[in-house]
Amino acid sequence: MSNPSSTPHTYVVEHLEPELGTWSLLEYTTIASETALPSRFYLSSLPTSLASNLPAPLPSLRSESFVTTTQNIEELVGEEGKHRVCLLDPQAEEELTPADAERFDWFVFGGILGDEPPRDRTSELRKYGYTGRNLRKMQMTTDTAVRVTRMVIDGQQSLDAIPFTDYPELKLGKHETTTMPFRYVRDAAGNPVMPDGMLDLIKKDADKSLDDLF
Ligand code: SAM
Repeated sequence: MSNPSSTPHTYVVEHLEPELGTWSLLEYTTIASETALPSRFYLSSLPTSLASNLPAPLPSLRSESFVTTTQNIEELVGEEGKHRVCLLDPQAEEELTPADAERFDWFVFGGILGDEPPRDRTSELRKYGYTGRNLRKMQMTTDTAVRVTRMVIDGQQSLDAIPFTDYPELKLGKHETTTMPFRYVRDAAGNPVMPDGMLDLIKKDADKSLDDLF
């Protein structure tokens, strides 16, 4: 994707979960593999124990464009960079637009698992006072939020031009389906764009919860 502004953009996911579970691992792996210079992906706020012991394949993906760090966004940007940071926040008043590519250098996301109903844990990042932008009301997974932000910022597409699929129903087995309570980008075949391995993980989790019932 081309970047119309002179400064490359950095996409920062502040890891806010106590652990780094398989779901987050798939999301972060996907974000890292979708990142190419000059844009960068920082996985930040990692607890020290986790940063030195990241699960595969994250360590092997580290590069100039994918950085893992114990620093948080405040430490990364410093006082003078604050005004160039945009927090992606479903509760922000203004919607993200292609013009924001010129206005911001850093785009920050909560490394938070989606939940239903949303618990608004993005509020943990609101305390820094960054300018917020929404991707409309509907909750997206973290990798989707980064993907959509990139499409708007680096790809210069408006939100109206991006095909979405909401509450997609996934087939888990012959007779079983599950509905995901999120908005995803829709691919050319009409399917939600998800990390590789996510469908299998969702199937496994569904089997586990069925087993727990017996
Ligand atoms: N239920 C979660 C909460 O407690 O806030 C939503 C977390 S969402 C899975 C992870 C991150 O993706 C959010 O912290 C936010 O940065 C971004 N995000 C997801 N949907 C968004 C939207 N509609 N607008 C702006 N940002 C969004």
